[in-house]
Amino acid sequence: MARYTGPVCKLCRREGEKLFLKGERCLTDKCAIERRNYPPGQHGRTRVRQSEYRLQLREKQKARRYYGVLERQFRNYYEKASRLPGATGENLLRLLETRLDSVLVRLGFAASRRQARQLVRHGHWLVNGRRVDIPSYQVRPDDVITLKPGSPAEPVVREATELTSAVPAWLQADHDGLTAKVLRWPERDEIPAPVQEQLIVELYSK
Ligand code: SF4
Repeated sequence: MARYTGPVCKLCRREGEKLFLKGERCLTDKCAIERRNYPPGQHGRTRVRQSEYRLQLREKQKARRYYGVLERQFRNYYEKASRLPGATGENLLRLLETRLDSVLVRLGFAASRRQARQLVRHGHWLVNGRRVDIPSYQVRPDDVITLKPGSPAEPVVREATELTSAVPAWLQADHDGLTAKVLRWPERDEIPAPVQEQLIVELYSK
């Protein structure tokens, strides 16, 4: 699956808030949002007229960028979420949150989704004992995630665990053994994505 490979701080500046796309740097005063909190480009500081459509569009773009998903794939997630029982917006966020790359970030095994995606792509992670190299792999309750024994990525993963203070209650992580378990599906209030999912549903329902 293709992915965005351009400068990521521009994405945060476009959305006007930190999306934490760069790992440790996001926690320092080198963060572009701390230094230049206005949209990128020549007309970045020009006042833009707000409209309902613009708000909905920006919310969708923000969610896409936060989870590192391109438009087509995001739309597929929405279609899938709308077919599941329950609120579509919540289902959408739950699907995105339970991608393997996102789960690794929540567990503290990667400093950013980009790093998580690379670690998965290079085959460093096992799910239930089997190698999974698809970053969008959907984890489920009772799945056990482990770093491949003897993986050369171990120092990088251990470094990432030092940045993490807490793991959400729906996950269980062993930072010494570099293993984890998915205990249950996340509730909406356990998904810290800075997104108003209702606006995305409104956009796609038009
Ligand atoms: Fe966003 Fe992180 Fe760049 Fe700050 S440092 S603008 S939070 S990606």
